[in-house]
Amino acid sequence: MPDSRVSVPRTNVRVVETAAQLRSEVTAARSAGKTIGLIPTMGALHEGHLSLVRAARHECGFTIATVFVNPTQFGPHEDFDKYPRTMAKDLELLDSVGTDVVFAPDRQSVYPSGFSTYVDPPEIANPWEGQCRPGHFRGVTTIVLKLFHLAGADVAYFGQKDYQQARVIQRMVEDLDVPVVVRVCPIVREADGLAMSSRNRYLDAEQRNRALALWRSLSLARDLVAAGERDGARVAQAMHDRLTELGVDRIDYAGLADPVTLQPVAEIQGPVVALIAAHVGQTRLIDNLRIEI
Ligand code: AMP
Repeated sequence: MPDSRVSVPRTNVRVVETAAQLRSEVTAARSAGKTIGLIPTMGALHEGHLSLVRAARHECGFTIATVFVNPTQFGPHEDFDKYPRTMAKDLELLDSVGTDVVFAPDRQSVYPSGFSTYVDPPEIANPWEGQCRPGHFRGVTTIVLKLFHLAGADVAYFGQKDYQQARVIQRMVEDLDVPVVVRVCPIVREADGLAMSSRNRYLDAEQRNRALALWRSLSLARDLVAAGERDGARVAQAMHDRLTELGVDRIDYAGLADPVTLQPVAEIQGPVVALIAAHVGQTRLIDNLRIEI
């Protein structure tokens, strides 16, 4: 009989699947006086994720990456079932950047039967993504707080790619006195500007080309502000127009927000963040750009 198991390359990274195993790893690292860095991911890893691991390695003696496609942050009609799962490749990549431990629990151990306690996310979760994906941030805050506890993290690394998510987590940490330092790392882009995303692998060549509309629209917003435009609504309109011209299939939102409160900006008086969520084919993409004045 051929061996049907996925062949996982031999790696130095240790993979643990239970909370108890993770605890014993963390206890050993702590007794050796190491600082613990945590990188939560949903797998299907790319350079964006690896940049977070590198940042953690730079700052922490012990690095834990988690790979868990978190069901509670997906809406009923979203892509939970078809979300890419590429564990063997993920382990290879995590190993190549020197991750110490990968925590890859199964759904049942994270959400055992009877699980019913959730973290109610802060107000900044309400606009933008919060409006388009009801319940999404409640799933995010819940899993992230659980992972903080499970990993005993000192420092946790998130990408600016999910700008609002990073702000929501920072606010949760502040509001609930969670003893974790949150680091937000820059967006890693392809050479032509497309933000790296696990969902990019859904795109065919023609869609990949149209997906560049997001970066082009953000760049336009930056150029308009640099040229002196101070009306947030006009910039938002120009962003929408550019996305439509360049052929995205549907825009969930495109506009300027206050980088701290995430409130839409009417008059640009300081730094803003341009935010976009748009669909290309069946794929929903998000991107953002901080704009200084
Ligand atoms: P995900 O696996 O999509 O949940 O992402 C896990 C972490 O990686 C999140 O903190 C993301 O913001 C971050 N991330 C995803 N894509 C990028 C990127 N292109 N550059 C930097 N960080 C990223």
